[in-house]
Amino acid sequence: MRLDIGKIRGLFPVLHQEVHGKPLVYFDNAATTQKPQSVLDALTKYYEKDNSNIHRGAHALADRATRYFEESREAIQQFINARESAEVIFTKGTTEGINLVASTFGRKNVGKGDEIIISTLEHHSNIVPWQMLCEEKGATLKIIPINDAGEIIFEEFEKLLSSKTKLVSIVHASNALGTINPVQNVIDAAHAVGAKVLLDGAQSASHLEIDVQKLNCDFFVFSAHKLYGPTGLGCLYGKREVFENMPPYQGGGEMIKEVTFEKTTYNVIPFKFEAGTPNIADVIAFKAAIEFINDLGKDAIRSYEDELLAYANEQLTQIKGFIPVGTANEKVSVLSFNIKSMHPYDVGMMLDANGIAVRTGHHCTQPLMKRLGIEGTVRASFAVYNSKAEIDKLVEGVSRIARIKN
Ligand code: PLP
Repeated sequence: MRLDIGKIRGLFPVLHQEVHGKPLVYFDNAATTQKPQSVLDALTKYYEKDNSNIHRGAHALADRATRYFEESREAIQQFINARESAEVIFTKGTTEGINLVASTFGRKNVGKGDEIIISTLEHHSNIVPWQMLCEEKGATLKIIPINDAGEIIFEEFEKLLSSKTKLVSIVHASNALGTINPVQNVIDAAHAVGAKVLLDGAQSASHLEIDVQKLNCDFFVFSAHKLYGPTGLGCLYGKREVFENMPPYQGGGEMIKEVTFEKTTYNVIPFKFEAGTPNIADVIAFKAAIEFINDLGKDAIRSYEDELLAYANEQLTQIKGFIPVGTANEKVSVLSFNIKSMHPYDVGMMLDANGIAVRTGHHCTQPLMKRLGIEGTVRASFAVYNSKAEIDKLVEGVSRIARIKN
C-alpha cells in the first residue's frame, strides 16, 4: 500500500512551522519523533476527563483510568507479540529498562569471573550499566568488534561466547549508523551457551516488525518517544519465567503483596517492577501512537523509509567532500555522514539556519566514534512523515556547505 504522506504530515501539528524563516525539515527522528494529534488528544482527554490514580481506587474515574492504562499494556503486548501483557513493564525509557535488568537480573545472576557481552555499536545506556555491574561484581565486559562498514563481526562474537557468558546485551539497530544487527543469530548462539539476551530496541521498534516470541529474546527494551509517543516512558519486555526469578527493582507502593515491619512479600509481575504511581497519562496516550503505527502498517512504513534512505544516499554520495559513515547492508533510515575538512557541529548549525534539523556529535556512542577514528558525525534520520522534497532540501543544503571547503 502506498502511504499518503501529505495526509500523514497533516496529523503532526509541530511540522507546520517555520524555523529561522524557513519551513521546518525535521530529520532528528532517531533522537525523538514528533507526536500525532491523536497522542496529544489522548493526553488532554486523560487530564480533562479521567485523571485518577490507578489500581486502588473504588470510584468511577479510578476504574476508567485503570482500564485505559491496562489497555495500553495490552496494545503494547500485541505490538511486540509478547505472550501476555504481564510481560510488559512500564519504565521511564530504554535507559531505565536496561538499568532495571542490570540491577535485578544482573545483581542476582552475575558473579565474580562471569562475563557480559555487548558490541562496539552500543549507545552509552547499554554500556555504562554493565560497566557498573561488572565493577561491583568482579565480572568482565567483553566487546564484539565491528568492521569498517559498522557491522558486528559475527565470528568474533562466537569466539567471545563461553559458559562464563551470563548475558549478551546488544542493540537491535544502531542509533549512530543505522546498522541492523543479525539479532536472531546472536540470540540463538547466546542461548546455546546458556546466556540470556537483551535487545536494545530503542531504534528498531519504530522501523522493524518486532516479534519477541519468534526472536526468543529474554528482554526487549524501547522508548515511547522514538515511536511517535510521549517522552519519559518506555517498556521493558521480559519472559515471565525470567521476570519471576528476578528480585524487585525499587521498593514502594504497588509492588507489594503485603507489608509488615518484619517482612514484605511482593506483588505478581508486572506490578512487582512498577513501584509508585506510574506515568499514567503518557502510558494511556502511548496507545494512540501504537494505533497510528498499526494503522499505517510496519511493512509500509519500512518500505517507505527505505525508499527515503536510498533516495538520500544516491544524491548525497554525489557531493564532493561527502563522507558516509556506516555503510552496512542492512540499515534503518539513519544516515550518518561527515563533510571533508568540516566539523559536524558547523555543518549542523548551517543546516539549522536553513530550517533543517539534524543531530551532530557522538550520538552517545563515544567508543564507536573512537573505533571509527572520528569525533562525531552529522546524522539525518527519517520518519514516516518525511518527504522526498525535504530530502531535496537537505541535499541542496549539504551541497552548498560542502562547496565551502571542497
Ligand atoms: N539505545 C539506543 C540505541 C538509543 O538510540 C537511545 C536513545 O537515543 C537509547 C538507548 C536511550 O533511550 P532513552 O534516552 O529514551 O532512555
